[in-house]
Amino acid sequence: MLKFCLAGNPNSGKTTLFNALTGSTAHVGNWPGVTVDKREGVYKKLEEKVSIVDLPGIYSLSPYTLEEVVSRNFIMDENPDLIINIVDATKLERNLYLTTQLLETNVPMVIALNMMDTVERAGDKIDVKALEKAFGVPVVEISALRGKNINELMKVAYEVSKQPRKSFSVVEHSPLIGKAYAEVEKLCCEHDVDCACFHAVKVLEGDMLEVKDHPHIEEHVKEIREQIDSSAFDGDFEAMVADARYQYITSKMPSILIKNAKQKATATQKADKFFMHKVWGIPMFLVIMFAIFHVTFAEDFLYLQGIFGLEINSDFWCTFFQIEAGSAIPSPGVWLQSWFGYLMGCLIEAIAGLMESCPAWLTGLVCDGLLSGIDAILSFLPHILMLFLFLSILEDTGYMARVAFIMDRAFRKFGLSGKAFYPLLMCFGCGVPGVMATKTLESEKERKMTILISPFFSCGAKLPIWLAFAGVLFGGQHGDLVVYSIYLIGIIVAIISAIVLKLVINKAETAPFIMELPDYHLPQFKSTMLHLWDKLKHYLVKAGTIIASAIVVIWFLSNFGFAFWNGMVDDINVSMLGQIGQALQYLFYPMGWAMGDYGWQLVVSSLTGLLAKEEVVATMEVLAGGLGLEFMIATMTAPAAFSFMLFNLLCVPCMAMVGAVAGELNSKKELFKAIGFWMLVAYVVSAATYWCFTYWYVGVIVAVALVAAFVALVIRYKKRKV
Ligand code: GDP
Ligand code: MG
Repeated sequence: MLKFCLAGNPNSGKTTLFNALTGSTAHVGNWPGVTVDKREGVYKKLEEKVSIVDLPGIYSLSPYTLEEVVSRNFIMDENPDLIINIVDATKLERNLYLTTQLLETNVPMVIALNMMDTVERAGDKIDVKALEKAFGVPVVEISALRGKNINELMKVAYEVSKQPRKSFSVVEHSPLIGKAYAEVEKLCCEHDVDCACFHAVKVLEGDMLEVKDHPHIEEHVKEIREQIDSSAFDGDFEAMVADARYQYITSKMPSILIKNAKQKATATQKADKFFMHKVWGIPMFLVIMFAIFHVTFAEDFLYLQGIFGLEINSDFWCTFFQIEAGSAIPSPGVWLQSWFGYLMGCLIEAIAGLMESCPAWLTGLVCDGLLSGIDAILSFLPHILMLFLFLSILEDTGYMARVAFIMDRAFRKFGLSGKAFYPLLMCFGCGVPGVMATKTLESEKERKMTILISPFFSCGAKLPIWLAFAGVLFGGQHGDLVVYSIYLIGIIVAIISAIVLKLVINKAETAPFIMELPDYHLPQFKSTMLHLWDKLKHYLVKAGTIIASAIVVIWFLSNFGFAFWNGMVDDINVSMLGQIGQALQYLFYPMGWAMGDYGWQLVVSSLTGLLAKEEVVATMEVLAGGLGLEFMIATMTAPAAFSFMLFNLLCVPCMAMVGAVAGELNSKKELFKAIGFWMLVAYVVSAATYWCFTYWYVGVIVAVALVAAFVALVIRYKKRKV
């Protein structure tokens, strides 16, 4: 099978093209650094099948970052038949820089000139013939997003892949180092170096890897370097080569790109003035997030009842919205949720009806155990999907990349860069890919810190917990605020932890954050839907496997005593689980919530959350007996309820995530430290929440102590710096 690879800058549209070619559903992110690993798929519309490899986005072939190493090794060592170099036509000069490097390999190549839709809309023109002449490879104009010209691209690619290509370096045209390059190349040829052109440039640059690989010519090359006047570049040959590349590109640009003369500020520029404002930026982000939570979770949509006293009384509308007479109009999220809940209820009743003649233990296991547990999780599905829909729209439009940029200003003070924001943002979906994405952070310390605070970003699996509480707390009236506050508190705890970690460790250095902002795009319907479908699938599979089997175990443990051969017990307190829970309960007393009526049940529920966070509500439902988890929650005071939620938000994440963290930290000792850190933070924050809000004077004392401690730390830090 032929093997083509997609190479290009981050955000040039590689994954979009990859998906279009292979029918795959890989995640398309509107910011750099999403694809760290390469991905493979098959294109079938040619005479021969072609394997397509989506490489991580890179700006150059130097071996500095993980992305560069992965891409470089693939191109140099795995003999692809062709490189499809994706060039973002809206950022031509920047993108062609990589092209000049790819040309130095002798792999056949075509340039796919992507985002032509945007270029055309702006009224610019690109002279394809001139571009082909300047770089010596065929160019095809495409729009990966609209699927335009993609099969033509593949036809050209197929033909090109059949002929060998002679490597070519634009460096030879440089007045300054062109001659030196030619000499090194000759040297490489004499020493039988494969792909002389590529290696010659690298050796001349003094690329670490290359110098090590070709020690025998380094002596000569040193002499050659000495003959050149490199004073303007402080003897930095890498900079000289980079300059030579840009010189070449710039000299060709006038003939290639014909700009629309009467161009106004683009829509993107105008929008950025607004969204990336120094002062408004962050508040705007908070407002947008609140709006999302409001549309998804609010019982009183747009506060129509709160402000205007609007109530629904007619029978038709009450049925339509699934509410009682005299209620407010629910937000779209709540509305969908009610209907879904109603349908689920009917389904469960039907199943229970079918099981009437079965033995009691089986009906108990299926109805009180499995069905109610799974119902507790699944019933939140519309809410969860809706939240993800909004988040993925924010991401697709390019807004989230801006947020990372705005956040960078603030994050930097805490030893994190805006780049750390991407992995953290992914953690809102699921911590596992989030933690894996920390690979893109160059600074080891920043990476560790990001991993440590990542569980504080509330993931999708924890959402059912917040929703179960939101439905009961404050009469179920302020669901949007409850959920929003949990997300926000998570972020605030993460920031405070980062500050404390930085002050305590006092070593975190932060790599500079350089990022090209993508243009705003309209989100793509298909890609968004695929994304949601992925989430849904993941959720259903999880509910059907780990969660369902855990529910069966919990049900068994809570319905039988240690002498299980004596049959089911009547009182859950004497069950196996009851006894274990009561033994552990005391450890959790200081946090308040473990002292109430359902103390040990809540302890056990939190513990099962270590398996998967959805398990928490499922277990609560099973342990609440016939009364339902709403009843269990209603017995808690608001401070106890918040204390419980925060404990579950901040404590050790689920098994899968712990595994991912273990993989990234790569040391048992570090992993134990991390687990200890999470337990400590969760315990302290929950206990403080409970006591401070239950007794106001405790709150005052704690607040004063905290401020004092913070000031002391800052003073110490300042002193140490001097
Ligand atoms: P990658 O980082 O190179 O894999 O880039 P992605 O495939 O993730 O795409 C980055 C962004 O560019 C996404 O928001 C895409 O929707 C968008 N995009 C990709 N191709 C096109 C195109 O042809 N036209 C336009 N307007 N946008 C595109
Ligand atoms: Mg990608």
